[in-house]
Amino acid sequence: MIKFLDLQKINAQYAGELKQAAVEVIDSGWFLQGEQNKKFESKLARFEGLPEENVVTVANGLDALRLILRAYIETGVMKEGDEVIVPANTYIASVLAITDNRLKPVLVEPSIETYNIDIDQIEKAITSKTKAIMIVHLYGRVAWSEKLEDLVKKYNLKIIEDNAQAIGAVWHGRNTGTLGDAAGFSFYPGKNLGALGDSGAVVCHDAELAKVVRTLANYGSSQKYVFDYSGYNSRMDEIQAAFLSVKIDHVLDENQRRREIADYYCKNVTNPKIILPQQIDNQSEHVYHLFVVRTKERDAFQQYLTNNGIQTLIHYPIPPHKQACYKEWNNESYPVTEQIHNEVLSLPISPVMTKEEVEKVVKTVNVY
Ligand SMILES: *Cc1c(COP(=O)(O)O)cnc(C)c1O
Repeated sequence: MIKFLDLQKINAQYAGELKQAAVEVIDSGWFLQGEQNKKFESKLARFEGLPEENVVTVANGLDALRLILRAYIETGVMKEGDEVIVPANTYIASVLAITDNRLKPVLVEPSIETYNIDIDQIEKAITSKTKAIMIVHLYGRVAWSEKLEDLVKKYNLKIIEDNAQAIGAVWHGRNTGTLGDAAGFSFYPGKNLGALGDSGAVVCHDAELAKVVRTLANYGSSQKYVFDYSGYNSRMDEIQAAFLSVKIDHVLDENQRRREIADYYCKNVTNPKIILPQQIDNQSEHVYHLFVVRTKERDAFQQYLTNNGIQTLIHYPIPPHKQACYKEWNNESYPVTEQIHNEVLSLPISPVMTKEEVEKVVKTVNVY
């Protein structure tokens, strides 16, 4: 069977270094807020081209986004009831981070071509209460444009990037995660830079904001047993930081391998029933966290691939506005979002797929 994502094989590439990293942490007897977190923060800062104090490691990607918004509330930039624009077809975490802070998500339809937020639909969603746009680089594709930059200037909005799926993507020489004011990263094991458990990070341009995030993530305390805010416990384990310091050195190569596979799929899948991802001129703008195709016959197509030994997943089957946790939106209509959720299927893509596996996927898809 061709696995959707073979995490065992991905981590086996670095088994020696990862085991050594674990031994170091165990032997150190120090498990939180230590040298390993400092080292990874500094590596991530170098990766993103920002100073070290602008990077804060946290417990997971959802917390990274929650903490950014909470820090904006604590610093008076936002208040309860303010609106944050977010793509309607994002993963639920982007929306949860907003509602958890008692801010109001304003869902905006994506483009059927890019699957990212439709920049042309943003302006009419802006009201006097709009304080920010949460941009999601969905599936690993950059969701950015000059038009977006003009809009945020015109309305004086913050831009928060949900960069969970796009580490290493570059727009006009600038890394995702540094395009907006602040960004949330996830190192969930299945992400392009995956830990061996949960972890995440906040990256931002404002060192003062980073300090508030760091304090909030440590119970609201910047000095032991003194609490400035009613904060959270959202820290990255030392062992995860140690693993990530090993793996971050390989993420660009792994992204490149993903691009090669995506390129092969795009050049060789010729089945007219299958809609491929829109090609972009600049390869650096996509890191193919997922390779998502569309077809009217999604469920039958998935069953066919399963029967032929190819594992696939749906990202995502139910949009946020149709979820039970957001009952108040269940009757709202977002046709593009709903079409995407009904038609998408993610084919296997990962840096450890063999040439034979990639070829088999193409052949099988073409025979359908
Ligand atoms: C994975 C993901 C998150 C959340 O990250 P966790 O580390 O799982 O909390 C947020 N947004 C998007 C788009 C994601 O893919």
